[in-house]
Amino acid sequence: MEQRHSSLQGDLRCGACAEDFGQPTRIEWQAIYHTTSTALGTLIGAILAMGGAGALPYRRVKFSTLHLLCPKCRRSVTFRQIGGVLLDKLCFIALLLSSIGLVMGFVFGTAVVVFATGTPFSEIGIALALIVASGSVFALGVYGAHRSKLLPTPKPLRTIGKPPFTILKVHPLTEVPSPK
Ligand SMILES: [Zn+2]
Repeated sequence: MEQRHSSLQGDLRCGACAEDFGQPTRIEWQAIYHTTSTALGTLIGAILAMGGAGALPYRRVKFSTLHLLCPKCRRSVTFRQIGGVLLDKLCFIALLLSSIGLVMGFVFGTAVVVFATGTPFSEIGIALALIVASGSVFALGVYGAHRSKLLPTPKPLRTIGKPPFTILKVHPLTEVPSPK
């Protein structure tokens, strides 16, 4: 992996923007795989994690690659990492609220159809609007959560850093390691 993606030979331009000269940089990637295979196990683990009693059982996979990055692109990765975390949190809230909206829409819609007399079109309309709006927010939340994992990775490196792999750290190197 390390050798294949190494871009330290030949071209000395930044591997991300190709505009400036790049400096040797080691990028550390990590992926977290949850090892609970059942939905119930995941749910219980999530509740336990919220209570501070422990986290989900998981397996961490790490590897690092060597690149030439200019100082501007290194900084950009750091800023985008912060942006990615914020986006991830925002999407989590959006998913939580839209799930509640979806459930409310379905419950309200069912109640109107089952219990209301006559043709309560306006109430059905409200239920449908709630379902459509919540569904859209939910879809945006899923898309945003996916994008947030990809956000810190410079475009040319996205074939390496495909989710679930995200950039953990960017280490500037003082000397170029000699190729093995
Ligand atoms: Zn650059």
